[in-house]
Amino acid sequence: MSERKVALVTGANKGIGRGAAAELAALGMTVLVGARDPRRGAAAVAELRGDVHAVTLDVADAATAREAAKWIDERFGRLDVLINNAGISGSGQVNPEDATDQIPSTVELDLVRKVFETNVFGVISVTNAMLPLLRRSAAPRIVNVSSHAASVTLASDPDGPMAALLPSAAYSPSKSALCALTVQYANELRKDGFRVNAVAPGFVDTDANNHTGFLTVAQGAAVLVRLATIGDDGPTGGFFSEEGPLPW
Ligand code: NDP
Repeated sequence: MSERKVALVTGANKGIGRGAAAELAALGMTVLVGARDPRRGAAAVAELRGDVHAVTLDVADAATAREAAKWIDERFGRLDVLINNAGISGSGQVNPEDATDQIPSTVELDLVRKVFETNVFGVISVTNAMLPLLRRSAAPRIVNVSSHAASVTLASDPDGPMAALLPSAAYSPSKSALCALTVQYANELRKDGFRVNAVAPGFVDTDANNHTGFLTVAQGAAVLVRLATIGDDGPTGGFFSEEGPLPW
């Protein structure tokens, strides 16, 4: 068994996930860079420093999650940290907050299904595949990467900043569902020493918003890393940005 803590980050071949992978490796963890495309995973690992390894994992394909868990079991015997970071806006390389194809009254149901498949159902399938490995950790941590757009409280304030955004029937509700799931997993796993939290990275300069975000990848990844490394006295079942707790 590895002496180092072992962390898996999904969708870590680029963007915020890759930033979190770099930081966890710098902290001395063994980092498994989840990527649906093995070539993109290998390319990211070649550029990252530390004890990093690529693992093929398409979160929308439960079979690859099971295969990844088997590989991690054979190679490392356990998992200490799972960051469910892989996510899609569903509207191509545009800011999901400006996606006219997600307006509730005209949205295509297939688009909603596609976004939920990755952002919600993918998290359930990856988490459940990895739970037997996480149960072997002395301090298991799960971080679900959500968004400020997930907050029903912020969205329902007609005078708040989120009300100025285009209404979305896909991305925002998928992240709200991810927050709801986070609480359910936290409640189930609290007695087993798990810390399960949702985080919002802020508006980060990545491909997901065509590089219109104003935070660097390292700044966005900071809250993922913080919740991935919290102590046993840390929160579980919460929703946080780098500035502090967020309303559901
Ligand atoms: P990027 O588009 O830069 O990266 C997304 C990553 O997820 C890529 O590695 C991508 O892989 C991967 N991915 C997508 N679908 C799958 C899948 N089915 N299986 C495995 N991997 C997949 O986006 P960000 O880094 O910006 O986003 C990371 C997370 O942060 C997402 O959950 C996003 O919703 C969230 N977020 C981002 C914000 C921002 O401002 N950027 C704001 C709020 C939340 P591939 O390269 O193969 O496409």
